[in-house]
Amino acid sequence: MDMEREQQGGDRDGGGGGRFFQRRRPCRFCIDKGSIDFKDVGLLRNFLTERGRIVPRRISGNCMRHQRELTAAVKRARHIALISFAEER
Ligand SMILES: [Zn+2]
Repeated sequence: MDMEREQQGGDRDGGGGGRFFQRRRPCRFCIDKGSIDFKDVGLLRNFLTERGRIVPRRISGNCMRHQRELTAAVKRARHIALISFAEER
């Protein structure tokens, strides 16, 4: 079940301009540049729920590629946090 539509109302049916540019709204990482910095906790947090789970792609709006990268980044960040925690005291 991947075909859920969460878009509310705003279908571009009555639109005028015939531009193929933003048909799907690129994810913020596509806009930004590409790579996700796993050390950027503030950024990663935007994609985590209160419980620290990764927000699903449908909700976050990420493309598949970057969602994947994000997941990896979060895991890495967790891993590092774990290590530094252990080492700190
Ligand atoms: Zn992307």
